[in-house]
Amino acid sequence: MRIRVSSTAMPLSGYWVESALLEETVAPSRTFDFFGKKYNLKFMQISSRLQKILKEAKRVCVLTGAGISAESGVPTFRGGGGTAVWKGMPFDQISSAKMVRENLDEVWEWFDYRRSVLKDCKPNLAHKILAQWQDKFDDFTLITQNIDNLHREAGSREVLELHGNIHRSYCTKCNKRFFMSKDTIPHQPVACDECHSKVRPDVVLFGEFLPPSVYERAERKSMQAELFFIIGTSAVVYPAAGLAEIAKFNGAFLVEINPEETPMTKLCDESFRARSSEVLSLLNELL
Ligand SMILES: [Zn+2]
Repeated sequence: MRIRVSSTAMPLSGYWVESALLEETVAPSRTFDFFGKKYNLKFMQISSRLQKILKEAKRVCVLTGAGISAESGVPTFRGGGGTAVWKGMPFDQISSAKMVRENLDEVWEWFDYRRSVLKDCKPNLAHKILAQWQDKFDDFTLITQNIDNLHREAGSREVLELHGNIHRSYCTKCNKRFFMSKDTIPHQPVACDECHSKVRPDVVLFGEFLPPSVYERAERKSMQAELFFIIGTSAVVYPAAGLAEIAKFNGAFLVEINPEETPMTKLCDESFRARSSEVLSLLNELL
């Protein structure tokens, strides 16, 4: 994906960016024939203010959600309008703290199924660019609502996983943590090797709080950020939604990347209506 043409109508600069799927595009787009090869190009505008901040910012935070992983083929698993997603149970029932207490085996069956679906999903260009950004800014923080581990697979060394990680588990008694490779399906170990109690998925379920140390860190970094990106999430679920607000009210320039308008759009200084891989490749070229 590359920038093909640029125009410089200040204060906005426009770029034609190669787009994977023309029909999905929201921004003006067209097919471009170049030496017999067809390119789908999308026109995107970026303010001179954002270009400047992008070059000068030292403290940058990115919050990602389901949208970035959807580009890797990761389903949301949520169903719609309370529909059953697993053995007749709605999402908020099978993925709940109550279910862990009452039927942990069933919860594991559901999570092993989800892990089997994820097995062939690979990080996409957006994940890879964000992994590069950890070395491009002095203080870069990646916060995600996703549990699919794709940021780590793309090479991100430190990820603040607000909702946990589907390939991790922990002991229900002594809290010892275990990491499973993607191929370990069904999960292992079944019981803790220290105290022999049952292990459960290291994922934040309905009725549970976000891990306090992870959230506090995310909150502190959001407060300090000069530039804050909300990528592929409507960020309506609190307390994660609060992070963008905290950043904004502490002076950060807030950028949204999402094909759809979201409740956060009004709060943002700049919004891109496109896929995260398209926008991030454009921004990455400008760094
Ligand atoms: Zn234990």
